[in-house]
Amino acid sequence: MLNFNNTFVTLPEYFYQEVNPTKVTNPSLIKFNYKLAEELGLYDSRLEDITNIFSGNIICPGSQPIAQVYAGHQFGHFVPRLGDGRAILLGEVFDSNGYRKDIQLKGSGRTPYSRGGDGRAWLGPVIREYIISEFMHNLAVPTTRSLAAVLTGEDIYRQEALPGAILTRVASSHIRIGNFEYFAAKDDTEALKLLADYVIDRHYPLIKNDTNPYLSLLGQVLKKQSLLVAKWMSIGFIHGVMNTDNMSISGETIDYGPCAFMDYYDQNMVFSSIDNYGRYAYNNQPKICQWNLSCLAEALLPIIDSNKDHSIELCTEALNSFNQDFKSNFYRLMIGKIGLDGELLEDFMLVQDLLDLMQKYKADFTLTFRYLSKIVDENNDLSSFLKLFDEEANTSSELNLWLSKWRLRLKSHNLDLSKISHRMDLINPAFIPRNHKIEEMIEKAHLNNDYSLMNDFLEIMENPFQEQDIFRKYFFAPENKALNYVTFCGT
Ligand code: AMP
Ligand code: MG
Repeated sequence: MLNFNNTFVTLPEYFYQEVNPTKVTNPSLIKFNYKLAEELGLYDSRLEDITNIFSGNIICPGSQPIAQVYAGHQFGHFVPRLGDGRAILLGEVFDSNGYRKDIQLKGSGRTPYSRGGDGRAWLGPVIREYIISEFMHNLAVPTTRSLAAVLTGEDIYRQEALPGAILTRVASSHIRIGNFEYFAAKDDTEALKLLADYVIDRHYPLIKNDTNPYLSLLGQVLKKQSLLVAKWMSIGFIHGVMNTDNMSISGETIDYGPCAFMDYYDQNMVFSSIDNYGRYAYNNQPKICQWNLSCLAEALLPIIDSNKDHSIELCTEALNSFNQDFKSNFYRLMIGKIGLDGELLEDFMLVQDLLDLMQKYKADFTLTFRYLSKIVDENNDLSSFLKLFDEEANTSSELNLWLSKWRLRLKSHNLDLSKISHRMDLINPAFIPRNHKIEEMIEKAHLNNDYSLMNDFLEIMENPFQEQDIFRKYFFAPENKALNYVTFCGT
């Protein structure tokens, strides 16, 4: 059994509402993350118990189910009250490292914040989130985790009847920028302070005794988020819906909706069907992250300093550090991806030149970096690498020119080339959950009750840095680069 130790419920009752998951008729377990369960102190549970607990049919002793209230800027527009409309927090547990984790059901029925929604999720987004979040974790990207996926045995209705499902999400906390915005919009300084103190205690205890802990809080979230977005971009990930209610205060990737990994590189890539203006496009992510942080800053203004002008000054200074922070994180990661370990602008120019070529000749993002490690030695065969780029690239000298510049720089490291190549293979994944395979995985699960693809992916993600021949069919992007992949919000 999970050993709950809940703290969010000690905050005043206007931070949340008590609500139990709605029981479902015939739950069945799709996947259970036994490894994660062990880390959370959940051993030896019977299949039936697991199914009942993570479908919301049984409430464990110690669990105090609630829905949290928050607001948020969605596509730039402020919505004063959103809240968990289809998520219910069961409570908190300590993991084996002593870290506090939230255990939350997503898709477990209506809550006081559901508005017109049914509080449910269908199988497709549940599978997507399970796979992508666990993949992110294995690529060392901070993220919420997936503990369980359960079919409810009930249909839900979107444009058609679809199988209902519930995901159990594990997070350092589910507190978002939107939780602060909710109280700021109500001019409730008292609640803002309580929330900020709670967050500092839970996530950033080291800043507690700073001269201005609330300003430090902004700085800490900024640092975490600038690293997070840099990490996303270094693996070609597009979150898709970076609204302020989908940005975690702890710096974890949260709310996997219309997200995706790019196949071929395009800095303006957008997947989400509702992102008409490219607000959350690949290359716009740092700018939007900074914009979201400015919403957090605005919410924190009254508790940072009683003099508003001074508070604004302090926050502006903090926000201005975002660009530099992001850039140094992004440069460091990208420079590492091409096998260098400098942090020079000159090295990053090399990365930028490569990205420009990848953009121009539509090269596969993941495999370009992966294959570079195979050609650190100029005597090695280039053909697989070249095949990643559009044919016109082969008739131009640009790629060769870039390769010579790159190799020259590699040589200056005075390291054994095989060591460099090995190091690159530990940084650049061979596999990512490619969109067309995720779609196939969902279709097979939905139409044929066939989870073999999902199982393959779960195995691949145990070691995404290893090229495994048996999984070759998951390695490549679809041949047709003109296929425009579209993702839909995870409802
Ligand atoms: P999202 O875009 O998934 O982050 O959701 C935005 C808001 O809509 C959040 O407050 C969600 O809780 C709510 N929401 C999304 N889907 C549903 C649903 N099926 N039923 C009720 N609320 C929902
Ligand atoms: Mg959300």
